[in-house]
Amino acid sequence: MIDLHTHTDESDGTLIPVELVTAAAQMSLEALAITDHDTFAGYDQAASSASELGLDLVCGIELSTKFRGRSVHLLGYFLQNGPTEDFRNWVTALQQARHVRNRGLIERLASKGVQITAEELKQRGGTLPGRPHFAAILAQKGYVSSIQQAFDEYLDESAACYVAREEPSFAEGIARITSGGGLASLPHPGRVSRQHGVLEESVGEMRDLGLRGIEVYHSDHSAEDQCFYESLARNLDLAITGGSDFHGETKPRVALGTGIDGKLSVPRSVLDNLRQITSF
Ligand code: AMP
Ligand code: FE
Ligand code: FE
Ligand code: ZN
Repeated sequence: MIDLHTHTDESDGTLIPVELVTAAAQMSLEALAITDHDTFAGYDQAASSASELGLDLVCGIELSTKFRGRSVHLLGYFLQNGPTEDFRNWVTALQQARHVRNRGLIERLASKGVQITAEELKQRGGTLPGRPHFAAILAQKGYVSSIQQAFDEYLDESAACYVAREEPSFAEGIARITSGGGLASLPHPGRVSRQHGVLEESVGEMRDLGLRGIEVYHSDHSAEDQCFYESLARNLDLAITGGSDFHGETKPRVALGTGIDGKLSVPRSVLDNLRQITSF
């Protein structure tokens, strides 16, 4: 069993990178990819521990992009060599847009009487805080009674304090990942559309932009979902990827490797295939 979709506390997970690779080694995962949102900091910190533990660690990233006006995630896997210096520099530039958004969000919250300081945000979110960290602070300070309420009332795209962040287009994300030495895959495809026809048409367009994989295995997928995404992969000639989307205590029901209620199992052949198709 492998897990090709996980987050550390360098993005919105709660385990520090070394804890994540240690947990993966303890449960004898055959391979683990760290796919933090818009950062390699977690992977970079975990790499030496993983090799000491004999864990096969894959370098990944999950980008936030814009597709047809909506925010859509995009996975990048760097299976042969690591990402190029150019790609790393581009990711650093993306992070600036997040810091700008965070400052705007602090101001807008303040205008509604919700006081969060830059220091609190740094305490909670480390080098690259996101909205989940804002949500946790809002709950901790008693402005809301749950993370979900924080999103519903303040942070969601439809909520009072939403501040948009500059995001690259989906097309640019794919182009950058590809020229940076990576393979681009669409995570949790059901979030693009639950309507099969619409999804198939969208994924067809993504494939034409250079998408090479689709996440068939994911904690949120029912058996029927998995079956449908597998047929999409076959019809559109996309490679299969898969993982739990483990976030630690941010998503407490999702276990590393095995997903929700132990229902997930991503076979090792998925990674062997990805390595094979990127080896020439
Ligand atoms: P950010 O990248 O900082 O804009 O934060 C995006 C993250 O916030 C997503 O990956 C989700 O984990 C979380 N998120 C966004 N919208 C919602 C929502 N309506 N309810 C719960 N979590 C959300
Ligand atoms: Fe996340
Ligand atoms: Fe995602
Ligand atoms: Zn994810």
